[in-house]
Amino acid sequence: MMDGKGIPRAVIERLPRYFRYLGDLRDNHVERISSQDLSVLMQVTASQIRQDLNHFGGFGQQGYGYNVNFLYTEISKILGLDKKHRLILIGAGNLGQALVNYVTFETRGFNIRGIFDIDPKKQGLLIRNIPVLPMEELQSFIRDNDIDIAVLTVPKSEAVGIAELLVKYGIRGIWNFAHTDLNVPKDVVTVNVHLYDSLLNLSYQINEREE
Ligand code: ATP
Repeated sequence: MMDGKGIPRAVIERLPRYFRYLGDLRDNHVERISSQDLSVLMQVTASQIRQDLNHFGGFGQQGYGYNVNFLYTEISKILGLDKKHRLILIGAGNLGQALVNYVTFETRGFNIRGIFDIDPKKQGLLIRNIPVLPMEELQSFIRDNDIDIAVLTVPKSEAVGIAELLVKYGIRGIWNFAHTDLNVPKDVVTVNVHLYDSLLNLSYQINEREE
């Protein structure tokens, strides 16, 4: 599978990891790194790194390696991090509140503007200074605040219906933590974070080693 620019999906999926390593290198004032050294650090082959990064015009230079800051900036543009995103979160339960309290969103340009919940006991609360609002205000809030992303942390039984509303109200991306897959039109992006699936993956791997 390719994205719109002909970059294999598998490469795109590896980009956040490159981005994280390059960010750490940058924070440690490393100016350049060879694909060899990066490969040792990231535990992937140097040839994979070269192949992956060649998709973006090959930022490396023979005998010099990669300019860390330049590569970091280019990847951040590819990931769309040069643009600001305005988010809402729906479902102010345990997981939803934990996510809102996870401060590093802001440093990456993700701005949480509002939280929505059906429970009147939660409405009116402030979580990190962001108000919990009633669902009746969802549509006008999305429109008036130019919201492009919704984080979904409602129970599974509610998620599909709420996703339909979000699509109708013009949301462009859904970060879905509900334990169900959503059925949205192609022009709306969903990324699932199914925590339980990943725990099952861990369980499988432990099991495999025991055998
Ligand atoms: P709590 O016990 O505090 O509600 P929880 O994490 O166990 O926390 P869940 O049942 O997973 O709660 O629900 C997550 C949140 O989603 C809750 O705050 C709940 O009020 C909210 N919620 C449930 N249904 C809807 C809905 N249709 N629209 C908006 N929010 C909803």
